[in-house]
Amino acid sequence: MTSKVYYMDARSNSPQTSLVSKMITVFEAAGFDKLIKPGDVVAIKLHCGEWNNTGYLRPVYARTIADKVKSLGGRPFVCDTTTQPYNPYATRCTALDLMVTAERNGYSSATLGCPFICADGFLGMDDYRVDLPEGYILKEAYIAQAIAAADVMIVLTHFKGHALGVIGGSLKNLGIGAQSKRGKFNVHMGCHPTYGLGSSAIFHPENCKGRKGEEDWQILEDCCPYGLIHVTEDSIEWEREKCVNCLSCLRPMISRGIWELSEDNFNATNAAIADACLATVKAVGPGKVAFINMAIDISKGCDCICFADVPIVPNLGVFAGYDPVALDKACLDKVVEAEGVQGSTAEEMEVMESGVRKFESCSPLMAGLSEEAQLNTGEIIGLGTLSYELVPVDEKEMTDVAFPPDPRPVGVRFRRLFKKLQPFPYDRYEGKGYNREEKVDLERVNTHFDDKK
Ligand code: SF4
Repeated sequence: MTSKVYYMDARSNSPQTSLVSKMITVFEAAGFDKLIKPGDVVAIKLHCGEWNNTGYLRPVYARTIADKVKSLGGRPFVCDTTTQPYNPYATRCTALDLMVTAERNGYSSATLGCPFICADGFLGMDDYRVDLPEGYILKEAYIAQAIAAADVMIVLTHFKGHALGVIGGSLKNLGIGAQSKRGKFNVHMGCHPTYGLGSSAIFHPENCKGRKGEEDWQILEDCCPYGLIHVTEDSIEWEREKCVNCLSCLRPMISRGIWELSEDNFNATNAAIADACLATVKAVGPGKVAFINMAIDISKGCDCICFADVPIVPNLGVFAGYDPVALDKACLDKVVEAEGVQGSTAEEMEVMESGVRKFESCSPLMAGLSEEAQLNTGEIIGLGTLSYELVPVDEKEMTDVAFPPDPRPVGVRFRRLFKKLQPFPYDRYEGKGYNREEKVDLERVNTHFDDKK
């Protein structure tokens, strides 16, 4: 079986080739407009970006899809979910924190023309349980309730790298991003008997000098929301059997060499991401979930970190389809095919050539993780296929270039207004308006610095 992936490249040189227009063009080419019936509640799932991240999708993309949904008679809302803490100073861990961060990043009803919703409730416990007998590792998943309640979902994804997942595409947008907080603990292998951090990480208490020897020892205790870390006078204790894999202590532990992470923990999580993505599709309904990948600003890290590095490859384009495995595979293939960006991590890691895998060298927390793990799992469990047909979509013929809120030509719109509130001072300098030199040496400035030497 082969899935169709509708695609337009990232070049823009006219209104109809802007990335916003291309996103809607592939939306229509993929038939997403036929998915939405009048009255349908439509979730637009995206990542609203971490505090101070600058690589996340600009709100105009979600706004345009929301407008499109409304034009089809649907009731859109844009949403994201609460996170695990992930670091000692979490910024999206409650609905309140998420809304504050989202608004700072430009996501609000004012910009979107529809509500921005935290889909899993105040602390991430509003969810819908899905049985998953077909899952590779997960046999159940917990989907954010507002997403499970939607009639239709448009998954709007910024395709880029990810520290743990290696890639962050459609699968990760749902496999992590559509899970409630308790769903995220599940995907991250919290308390898992084999792959959980408590079971799989190698603990080196000898690398902690304790309260006497560590000036900033307090953060080691303060970063755990379950109080599982205890710094003693000369070492550290960890109640590993209760660890939920919230990852809040990850950096403090790794930077001191107290934890040695297991590759298996990340590999298992990557397989679970595909499982949880499938569970989300099941929750909304097969055939009711449409995927768009914006492969732009392709930094090595996810939008869940509080910065965005120089992209490792140039912008690649806009992809749409119903099969998230095929969609992410098509984007990943384009990244491999592309040449790396000079001055980026791709150059540092010497993966600049076309044909070379880039994310595996540039993005992960540890070497040895595969950028294809989520996709391979997705195919095994029947979420989608790695076999795809890339369908190039032609740019739309421009029949109407008018500004939608007022489509009249400017002469009609402004003639009366300019007469009343004249912006050009015709009454000054004999109708010439301004005090200016009549003639200057333009050649003198119309030159290059080198020519003057
Ligand atoms: S010990 Fe486990 S539960 Fe506590 S902060 Fe670390 S990862 Fe989270």
